[in-house]
Amino acid sequence: MTPASQSKAKIGIIGAAGRMGQMIAREILGGQHTGATLAAALDHDSCPALGKDMGTLLGLEPCGVKITADKHAAFEAANVVIDFTNASATVDFASLAFQHGTAYVVGTTGLAEKEQGALKVAAQKAAVLQAANMSLGVNLLVSLIEQTAKRLGPDYDIEIFEAHHRHKVDAPSGTALALAEAAAAGRGVLLKDALIPARFGQIGARPEGSIGLSVFRGGDVIGDHTVTFAGMGERLELTHKASDRSLFARGAVTAACWLAGKPAGTYTMKDVLGL
Ligand code: NAD
Repeated sequence: MTPASQSKAKIGIIGAAGRMGQMIAREILGGQHTGATLAAALDHDSCPALGKDMGTLLGLEPCGVKITADKHAAFEAANVVIDFTNASATVDFASLAFQHGTAYVVGTTGLAEKEQGALKVAAQKAAVLQAANMSLGVNLLVSLIEQTAKRLGPDYDIEIFEAHHRHKVDAPSGTALALAEAAAAGRGVLLKDALIPARFGQIGARPEGSIGLSVFRGGDVIGDHTVTFAGMGERLELTHKASDRSLFARGAVTAACWLAGKPAGTYTMKDVLGL
């Protein structure tokens, strides 16, 4: 990223008082992203932190940006907003991005077709980037898996393993599915035709070309993902391990710095990484 692109980022955080919102604010106010400034902090009108200074909320020096429920003011003050709220609010924010032409980074997960449609409309007037996993490392891994699956071909069996903490309620993780999709794309097959999500009992020999996926749940594991390419006489393993949730906030701020000032359109983390 060039210093010139960073200097343009006046960032508004949507869901500023939430877990991710606070981490993102800490990233910006901590000064690790040269040129990125906090321009607005937006949250729900029922949020108990409304009116509080964002810096004070984090136990830092006051930063002069108060948490507000005024959406138009927030989208006007910022040239890029980062949204980590909930899927039901996405249509509204996408419409604000459209009206104000404000670049829009969407980290919120669980978007259905309706929300995806709203993002497409917003992208006619604003730069829009959506990623269910904002980690730079995971996004690089997804791309590496597609390339590796393509290069190594069907002689190498693909097995995906993911591990998360004991509280995670869904399985497999969205990231494991994204890795499986990338492997299938590299192989030129549809994931639904290749995926073996669980094994138990007399399962027979491994079907040729299948993509295995296994899941671990336990302890406080933040998120580990390994993709193994198992051939004759060798195994290639590509692993990502998350050790701190702030990596998602760092990725989101990096994406926002990159997106600010970009022409209207749809972008992904691949574009941020130059892949
Ligand atoms: P959270 O519940 O701690 O925070 C959400 C915040 O959004 C709250 O402060 C809430 O008041 C606010 N909010 C909700 N509706 C709003 C509205 N209409 N207008 C303004 N503010 C509103 O949740 P969290 O843990 O910070 O996660 C938020 C989202 O980010 C979830 O969808 C989660 O899955 C996703 N997430 C994505 C990544 C990624 O890398 N993309 C990483 C972690 C979490």
